[in-house]
Amino acid sequence: MVVATNGSPLEQYNDTKIPLSNLSYNSIVSVDRGDPVGFSTFWEKLREEAKVEIKGDEVMSYFGDANLCWYMLPQMRNAILRLHKVVGNANTEDKYIVLGNGSSEVYLALLYALSTEKPSDIPINVVAAAPHYSDYEGATDMLQSKLFQWSGDASVYDKDEPYIEVVTSPNNPDGALRTPVVKSDAEGKVIYDLAYYWPQYTPINHELNQDIMLFTFSKCTGHAGSRIGWALVKDIEIAKKMVKFLHLSSIGVSKESQVRATKIIEVICDGYQNSNSTPSDRLFFNYSKKLMKDRWEKLKAAIEKSKVFTLPKYPTAYCHFTKEITEQYPAFAWLKSVEGIEDGESYLEKLKILTRGGKQFGVDPTYVRISMIGTDDEFIELVTRLANAKIE
Ligand code: PMP
Repeated sequence: MVVATNGSPLEQYNDTKIPLSNLSYNSIVSVDRGDPVGFSTFWEKLREEAKVEIKGDEVMSYFGDANLCWYMLPQMRNAILRLHKVVGNANTEDKYIVLGNGSSEVYLALLYALSTEKPSDIPINVVAAAPHYSDYEGATDMLQSKLFQWSGDASVYDKDEPYIEVVTSPNNPDGALRTPVVKSDAEGKVIYDLAYYWPQYTPINHELNQDIMLFTFSKCTGHAGSRIGWALVKDIEIAKKMVKFLHLSSIGVSKESQVRATKIIEVICDGYQNSNSTPSDRLFFNYSKKLMKDRWEKLKAAIEKSKVFTLPKYPTAYCHFTKEITEQYPAFAWLKSVEGIEDGESYLEKLKILTRGGKQFGVDPTYVRISMIGTDDEFIELVTRLANAKIE
């Protein structure tokens, strides 16, 4: 989002777009949030094919399905299964799908289910290796639950108490491919948050088959506003408890959202099933991967030119989906300031670039996170400013 600086702080978050030509010195480039609107250029081309219509008398019930996840529409279930089959990123056999209002709600449902498996007098510790996704801590501790509590960096966890480790791979904020790191002998459960395990961000080199895998529609297709997320869960008892949580917190998930998400997923999958007759720029992952690749090339050139920050190095791997050896193109760039800059976020603020600093991810403020999935306008302005940055 690109906004004028002369308004109130609240105005920074409205949708006012300023034409590129006006984007000089007086505007703020806001790349602190991971709003995936950059993929809208694809959906604009397919706006008619991806359109949904819901008549006045349709999808009125609380209920969707006679299965365990009773509020999920059968077509939503089929679309999720089909998407994983087409992409090959997760094994869905012998798993229950639990749908939620974004993966944010499914995360809470998982904490509830995992922390109530066995009776305990103390809250279960929730950890993730730093740098970790900035909302885990707030989401875990917001209601000061007696069941679970945030306990910080998984790599230094040494309590002899049960824990839940969240493994985010590729990781938000730094794009790293991760495995569990807790060394404690205490009983532990692992949630794999696979929000970014899609071909536009990373090679799909394994069909993952973990007991608990969390996905979000937001970062897969870019439709964050639909608020659809799901978990693939092996254990029926855990799945049942998650559904109970969804029942009591929101009595399920909007059917309108499910209808829309189903359509979007079907359009993507139909494209790949007829890929011989579909031009590459109408195949979602081909288009979005190219977009991410182009952006990463531009960002790397800007960082190289100014020499104020450095970027992590990413390995290449064979992608079973694209059938090529490819690099990673993470949804966020994780910048490390060079010596002499103590606080990357404040440094970039002076260039009128709003970012999220290392502290929010559990590390020091020399690090800073930048979204790579916003609009074209803000991305172009971002790289222009970064290329011209100088050490004071
Ligand atoms: N997990 C990770 C790692 C994320 O980056 C996000 C979104 N920023 C989420 C979960 C939540 O996604 P949503 O609630 O939109 O599904």
